Amino acid sequence: MRAVDIIARKRDGAALTREEIQSFVSGATDGAWPDYQSSALLMAIVLRGMTPQETAWLTDAMVHSGIRVDLSDIPGAKVDKHSTGGVGDKTSLILAPLAAACGLKVPMMSGRGLGHTGGTLDKLEAIPGFRVNLSLEELREALARVGCAMIGQTSRIAPADKKLYALRDVSATVESIPLISASIMSKKIAEGIDALVLDVKTGSGAFMKTEADSRKLAESLVSIGNASGVRTEAIITSMDAPLGRAVGNALEVIECLDVLKGQGPADLVEVSVELTARMLVVGGAAQDRADADRRVRAAIASGAGLDRFRQIIENQGGDPKVVDDYGRLPSAPYRHVVNASRGGVLVGLDAALVGRASVALGAGRDRVDEGVDDQRQHDREAHGLGGQADHLGVEEGQEVGEAVVLHPEGDRAEAVEDPGRKAEAARVRPLREVCGQGGSSCHAAAAGRLLRPRCDSASAPSICAFESAVWRR
Ligand code: URA
Repeated sequence: MRAVDIIARKRDGAALTREEIQSFVSGATDGAWPDYQSSALLMAIVLRGMTPQETAWLTDAMVHSGIRVDLSDIPGAKVDKHSTGGVGDKTSLILAPLAAACGLKVPMMSGRGLGHTGGTLDKLEAIPGFRVNLSLEELREALARVGCAMIGQTSRIAPADKKLYALRDVSATVESIPLISASIMSKKIAEGIDALVLDVKTGSGAFMKTEADSRKLAESLVSIGNASGVRTEAIITSMDAPLGRAVGNALEVIECLDVLKGQGPADLVEVSVELTARMLVVGGAAQDRADADRRVRAAIASGAGLDRFRQIIENQGGDPKVVDDYGRLPSAPYRHVVNASRGGVLVGLDAALVGRASVALGAGRDRVDEGVDDQRQHDREAHGLGGQADHLGVEEGQEVGEAVVLHPEGDRAEAVEDPGRKAEAARVRPLREVCGQGGSSCHAAAAGRLLRPRCDSASAPSICAFESAVWRR
């Protein structure tokens, strides 16, 4: 089976056979296929697509490029969550301890930030000493001891994905539903979980910009998961604006701790509780959604989720005192205020622009193969889009005065002086422009991301996001 023939067949729109897909995956991983041929096939897949059957075979081949972890000897349902990525998307740090406190085992394998989207591992590493590179044995011990481990992908889990993702990153072949589905699900299936809840993001800061594409991705992910024996659900949530108020690794850790203390911003609390409750139901730890919701909120109110996060930090070598003393986390030494051009109502924060500013300031990376640069990782400025936490001291739909955006200053200040990254990220309009005559529904719109359209005015598409969408099969 020649690589060039397989590429030509996909180029001409044919559906590949299981053997052809297997040849590609093993060849790309072991080097039998040179990178230029793998990249050519990836591009043909982007342009021609794949059938659900091809996507399932691709996922299976990627799972079998490494080991499928067996956690069956560990009692309790093993449940993970995965987000397709966004800006300020920090729910993992909230829901993993909450789900563990409610009785689930959470073997959470996460990634690093890439492009304008942030990554759970970078956020966790803002906690001094926190180790994300646990061995599989340490993962088992952590599950037994504290019910949760938050770690990076090991080299034995879906190594084909590591290779292919690096190629896709530099060959403009990331945006493809079959490739994204196989990439995400191969890692999740291989980690040995019983059930999975997916948060498929939609909007300007997401891979999928439209709700229609997000639905297609969600359906693809869910059907692959369930066909592989992992009970899988997906919800779609808006990523037109950053989630919560903080963007930047240390700032996001602080915001998560605030949520676990019952003090977080409404949209972040809402999405986190929703995802955790679904994990409890799909993992069989709650009878129904109402029961699950009650238990998750109780775990916040009692401090059980916060205690569990403290234990997870300690178990993974981090400094547990950060939970009570945010001063132990890195912080940006400079702050820079960018004024809104006028007073009015904040109708949107462009998630992609805020995310790019965050990367420019050192909180992320542009290339998947950029290693963790110690200099960068530990640079105090690298841990936050400065006063992003403060800048969003207003919420969407809330009336604002003048100052809305704060950024760090110093030698990275030029990054935010670029007009593309400045105040346009915060769109402010007078109330009457937002909602016809102006009205309380505009303000109510600030509250959530999962609810039905929250503003009755057709003139306010930027805050009338999407109703919730859930698939179960
Ligand atoms: N996240 C992944 O793990 N893979 C993709 O292809 C896209 C997002």
